[in-house]
Amino acid sequence: MKKLALALTLFMLNLPAATPDAAELHRMAARFAPADMRVDLSSLSQADRKALVKLVQAARVLDGLFLEQRWSGNLALYEQLKKDKTPLGAARLQYFWLNKGPWSEIDDHRAFLADVPPKNLPGGNFYPAGMTRDEFEAWSAKLPPDRRKAATGFFHVIRRDEKGQLKEVPYSQEYRAPLEKCAALLREAAALTPNVTLKKFLESRAAAFLSNEYYASDVAWMDLDAPIDITIGPYETYNDELFGYKAAFEAYVNIRDDQETAKLKFLAAHLQEIENNLPIDPKFRNPKLGALAPIRVVNQVLSAGDGAHGVQTAAYNLPNDEQVVAEKGAKRVMLKNVQQAKFDKTLVPIAGLVLSASDRRDLSFDSFFTHIVAHEISHGIGPHQIQVDGRATSVRKELKNFYSAIEEAKADITGLFMLQYLFDRRLMPGDERKLYTTYLASAFRSVRFGVHEAHGKGMALQFNYLMDKGAIVSHPDGTFSIDFSKIKSAVRDLTHDLLTLEAMGDAAAAKSMLDRLAVVRPVLQQALDKLAAIPVDIAPRNITASEVAPE
Ligand code: ZN
Repeated sequence: MKKLALALTLFMLNLPAATPDAAELHRMAARFAPADMRVDLSSLSQADRKALVKLVQAARVLDGLFLEQRWSGNLALYEQLKKDKTPLGAARLQYFWLNKGPWSEIDDHRAFLADVPPKNLPGGNFYPAGMTRDEFEAWSAKLPPDRRKAATGFFHVIRRDEKGQLKEVPYSQEYRAPLEKCAALLREAAALTPNVTLKKFLESRAAAFLSNEYYASDVAWMDLDAPIDITIGPYETYNDELFGYKAAFEAYVNIRDDQETAKLKFLAAHLQEIENNLPIDPKFRNPKLGALAPIRVVNQVLSAGDGAHGVQTAAYNLPNDEQVVAEKGAKRVMLKNVQQAKFDKTLVPIAGLVLSASDRRDLSFDSFFTHIVAHEISHGIGPHQIQVDGRATSVRKELKNFYSAIEEAKADITGLFMLQYLFDRRLMPGDERKLYTTYLASAFRSVRFGVHEAHGKGMALQFNYLMDKGAIVSHPDGTFSIDFSKIKSAVRDLTHDLLTLEAMGDAAAAKSMLDRLAVVRPVLQQALDKLAAIPVDIAPRNITASEVAPE
């Protein structure tokens, strides 16, 4: 799983009813700031560099495959747009490629071209046009168990036979030509790389593309530990809005970031110590933390297919297959250079409007990214399995629909607590001013995406709590700052309050805290209003990918 269910209506332009002209398309595209993506390949062996060329080529195959999965008319439309050399044609092609289809994702998926469905089809091209939910359910209910599993599974499309009856068709058959091409490139890369775990993943994934059996290659992906870190295959089901069954093809070709990986190992090694010092009643601390789910920090050379449209993915958790997750767990991959590009193109200009000139000097990508890593690790500490009235239960079960927002706020604030703990004991070099000032600026970025989903809600809660404690201060000129005499104790207090609420499984307290604090108060709204012209996200230009494997 990766994407936030972003409430992007904030960023919608008031589109005229007619299809947009070139100027309008440029305005729409400008909400995504162009960002050059370069990755240092100097740590790669010569053999791995050659393998990388094949992997970039393999990833590009999935762009076409994904276009086909979204809509049956998509590939033909793409070919037609490429032929139109007028300025309007170029603007259409650019915005089509950014969205991987004729619908503008951040404008509620409205069409920006004529002669296409007015909105993206809920079933994409995974089901036959015109099939209803009822028809599918009536048909699949009567199937024998193994066929029903395929029909409702990740890796079969639904088509009609000669008689008009529904039937399930494996991806390996439906997408045979592109998958054969992709598999051949993966095998070539496997033959080139000296890394055993990469070789194993690539060979088993190539086999899966042709056999439609993905289990073994998902397991091999969990074991992947190599300088080239690749994710490629059918994964997320967000494009199947009808049922959420069908996986879309995507690829991320990445290079492992060894420096950040070392930082992660360091944090993981201190996790029990931090748990033992959490600002809560000692009886709520866990004397023996379980193993941390694996996290990889990488730099992205190229993303493709479902991994490259609309708002760009900055981190993902995979696989989604529950059988693999039950046996091997899941892995989180964080795309550092994508975060850096988002930081440069959106957070820096946001800071220009909400921080004073002197505070802006303390805005730091290193602090931003270290806090994101600390956030992820913080999900692994604090109460999870709890006792309520003598009953064994979990925080998630007790807090129900309040859980996600509370847990996201907890991960942010406990992440700050964790870093401060390590700074104070000189276990980690760090700069408090940079940490808290960068955190303050990023609060506006999170809340900007709306308080309808967990991250935005969790951030509004923190922002208001810290303002009420005087740790965040608003100024008459519309800027905000941290009061460094108050921030540490306020962070400690909020960490205490959220962790205690979780330890008690107290849903009523969670609700009242969210009702009171997870809101956009006028002072915050005024600040958000100033940010309207700042880009929503980035449009990556994959410079390194183009250099190693020219298109
Ligand atoms: Zn989180």
